[in-house]
Amino acid sequence: MKSKEHYSSFSHIYVEEKIRENPRVKRILEHFPNSNRIYINHYKDVFNRSKQSVVAQHNSQALIIAEKTGAKIYEGAPVCQSFGNEHFYYTSCMMNCIFDCEYCYLKGMYPSGNMVIFVNLEEYFAELEGLLKKHPVYLCVSYDADLVACDSLTDYIREWIEFTRKHHNLTIEIRTKSGRCDLWENNDSCDKVIAAFTISPDVVSSRYEHFAATTAERIKAAKCAMDNGFPVRLCFDPMIYCRDWKHAYEKLCNDVFEKIDGAKLWDVSVGSFRISQDYLKKMRREEPDSAIVNFPYDNVGGYYQYPKGLQEDMEGFMVEKVAQYISPDKIFRWETQSK
Ligand code: SF4
Repeated sequence: MKSKEHYSSFSHIYVEEKIRENPRVKRILEHFPNSNRIYINHYKDVFNRSKQSVVAQHNSQALIIAEKTGAKIYEGAPVCQSFGNEHFYYTSCMMNCIFDCEYCYLKGMYPSGNMVIFVNLEEYFAELEGLLKKHPVYLCVSYDADLVACDSLTDYIREWIEFTRKHHNLTIEIRTKSGRCDLWENNDSCDKVIAAFTISPDVVSSRYEHFAATTAERIKAAKCAMDNGFPVRLCFDPMIYCRDWKHAYEKLCNDVFEKIDGAKLWDVSVGSFRISQDYLKKMRREEPDSAIVNFPYDNVGGYYQYPKGLQEDMEGFMVEKVAQYISPDKIFRWETQSK
């Protein structure tokens, strides 16, 4: 059974042979002295195997430690909010997540549910420095994974904060569903490191966001980051339709702003669930009993989303509620962003 905190007990650990002496690899392996270790040629030999069941693998996840080759920094995808940033990029120094949200697009995107950690972080930094010579960069670093949740293994949060502090034209976003406070307390704050917390109502987090922190824990962690000087973003995104969603999201709003001073927030994002048609097709095969995955979404330009009226209702409702606590110009709604 996976631990809810920080990292799971991996069933197997695969390590690329060429990096077995890498100090970062050794540090990660120290966490698993009794692990079932297998040395491999290339992570894709395991990760890209055909006929894997992503859902089943999440119940007994393996860890793959590898070196990332090729491009490491990517331009932002159309389903993602750019928050008004012109040069919007994302990067993934891990693939997959120890949390297991039922609706997670990674289940549709990757051929495997196993987790990969790339250890050549310096090469990510080098590529980014090349971009920073051309223009400012806004970079989401906790993408296709939850970097905070696995930081006990990688120490990447500290490394990203330190790198960002040294580069005046770089702003990063670290998005998480973890309730860890220690990282925000123990790292010196930086006003260009946005601590972003995806916040869902109790009914959604407890039913669908398996192993992630509870709603209350995430709110506490967000307050912790704010109290320690980090700009904090709250993401009511993805909003998930459920019976009595209005009541659930209204309560969430009350719970959040009872603890967090809206005037001190960096910004807020609001968006309802949407996903690429290809990913959803695969997820429907893997999760035939999931109410979220099998909802009758509308296909708009290759992306599934809630029917227009429902989407408007949900996002409009949340924007109105949030606007009671935070200035409207700090509320980013996905729909308006994409126009
Ligand atoms: S926390 Fe994010 S990346 Fe992790 S399983 Fe949930 S949706 Fe996916």
